[in-house]
Amino acid sequence: MANNTLATLNAAVNAKLVKLPALPGAARGNRPLVKCECGCDGLTQRRFVPGHDARLAGWVKRVERGIVTLEWIAVNASYGEAKATARAMGIDNFETLVALDAAAETEATE
Ligand SMILES: [Zn+2]
Repeated sequence: MANNTLATLNAAVNAKLVKLPALPGAARGNRPLVKCECGCDGLTQRRFVPGHDARLAGWVKRVERGIVTLEWIAVNASYGEAKATARAMGIDNFETLVALDAAAETEATE
């Protein structure tokens, strides 16, 4: 009797409830793993490993402010990150820039 009443009540409540839309993440399913765009070789289902968009932005700021050079990043962080930083700064021909930076540094020390 009590069970029957509860079932009737549940049926009445369910009939009045508005059906919720599917969660946006659930509809997308599992994305394929891709390399992080900061150049760290980390794998992610998004553009960046969490926090690495800020890491890339930090490199760009340091280069723009003259704190480090792209070559310094290539040597002390990773070549991929230096390349991603150059890409983020709109510099297309990174190899040439590194060669120029290296030449400039050897000239300065001579
Ligand atoms: Zn990364």
